[in-house]
Order: sequence, then structure tokens, then C-alpha cells
Amino acid sequence: MLSPVLEALLILQDRDTKRLGLEAQLKAVPEEIERIRQTIASEQTAIDAARAELHEFESKKKLLETEIGMVESKLAKYRTDQLAVRKNDEYQALGREIEMMQGKIGEMEGGELEIMYSIDAAKKKVAAATATAKANIAGHESRIQALGEREVGLKEELKGAEQQVEAARTAVAAPGLRIYDRLAVRTMPAVVPIRGGKCGGCHLKVSSDADSASRSNKAGAELAVCDQCGRIVYWES
Ligand SMILES: [Zn+2]
Repeated sequence: MLSPVLEALLILQDRDTKRLGLEAQLKAVPEEIERIRQTIASEQTAIDAARAELHEFESKKKLLETEIGMVESKLAKYRTDQLAVRKNDEYQALGREIEMMQGKIGEMEGGELEIMYSIDAAKKKVAAATATAKANIAGHESRIQALGEREVGLKEELKGAEQQVEAARTAVAAPGLRIYDRLAVRTMPAVVPIRGGKCGGCHLKVSSDADSASRSNKAGAELAVCDQCGRIVYWES
């Protein structure tokens, strides 16, 4: 049988552990919400990047069309000029110019076709990124809402757990509480059983003094502590 102080300490430790668990869960909620918001932002970034790429190709296409138009009107002018010249060498010189320009137009039209393929691909990318964001948005939003509700519930639960801890603390005498508190801030559990002569916290062998002290279940007896880690140890019968 455990001494009354150990029994009270174990109840306190149990309730403290529950409180700590709730605090950890509560702390994780805003982090999880932030993670979801980042996912939403990255989906939006993907849409923006795909749109920017599409605009870039579209303005490239426009620019190329203007250039083609300019060369075409020059070509038309040379053709008219050619009809007016009387000298054969001038006629041939214009003929070479015309040929060169036709080649240039053909080249530019090839480039335009490539850009049109790129525009098609970019449009598909925009559509895919938009579809992804659209498909996920409902899930993201409901998850954030659920987390908000969970936060409220956890806060309520934590309030109850804190009250339970306070109640358990009043049942532990001041000296025991002091040792427990000092341990609890750096290591939990602070109160551990001895099993096979070893401390249940650090798993090292306890001294025979600590071992025999831990067997005492008298009220008012001093608490036994592990020689290695300082945890409060008790004998599990
Ligand atoms: Zn120990």
C-alpha cells in the first residue's frame, strides 16, 4: 500500500500530465492553422505564376504579330516598286530583297506557331492550378473551422484540468509539493516506481537506502528519491 502522500502525489501527477497534454494540443492548433494557410497561399502562388507565364507568351505573340505586319507591308511596297522599275539590275535587286523578306516572314511565323503551342500549355497550367485550388478550398476552410472549434473545446477542457490540478495540489503537504514542483518543471513523470531495483525514470539502480525508504508507507515518512536522477520513487507492491 502506498503512503497517503504518495497517493496524493500520483493523483497530482496524473492530472498534471493531462493538463500538459491539453496544453501541447492547444499549442499545436495555431501551428496547424498556419500550415493550412500556407498551403492555400502556395496554391494561389501557383495560379499567379501560371498566369504570369501565360501573359508573357501572349505579349510575345502580339509583339511578333506587329513585327510580321511591318515586314509584310515593306514587302508589299517592294513588290509595287518592282513593278515600276525599268532597269533589269534594279529589278533583280528588289527581287532579292523580296525573297529575303519572305524568308524572314516564314521564320517569324514559325516562331509564332511555337509561341501558340506555349500559350496552349500555359493555359492548361492555369486551369490545372485553378482546379487544384478550387478542389481544396472547401477542405481547407472546413479544416480551419474545425480547428477553431477544437481550440475552443480544448481551452474549456484545460480550464477544467487546471482546476483538477489545483484540487490535487491541496491534498499534498508542502515539502512533498516542493520536491514535486522542482522535478515537474524539468522532467515528467516526477514520481516513478522502482522495478527490479531500478528507478522507473532513469532506469539506473537505486541505492539500498533509497530502496528501503521507498518501501515505507507510513504517513509522514520522508519521500524516497532516486540517487541518480532525483525523482521521487516508490515501491510498487
Ligand atoms: Zn532515477
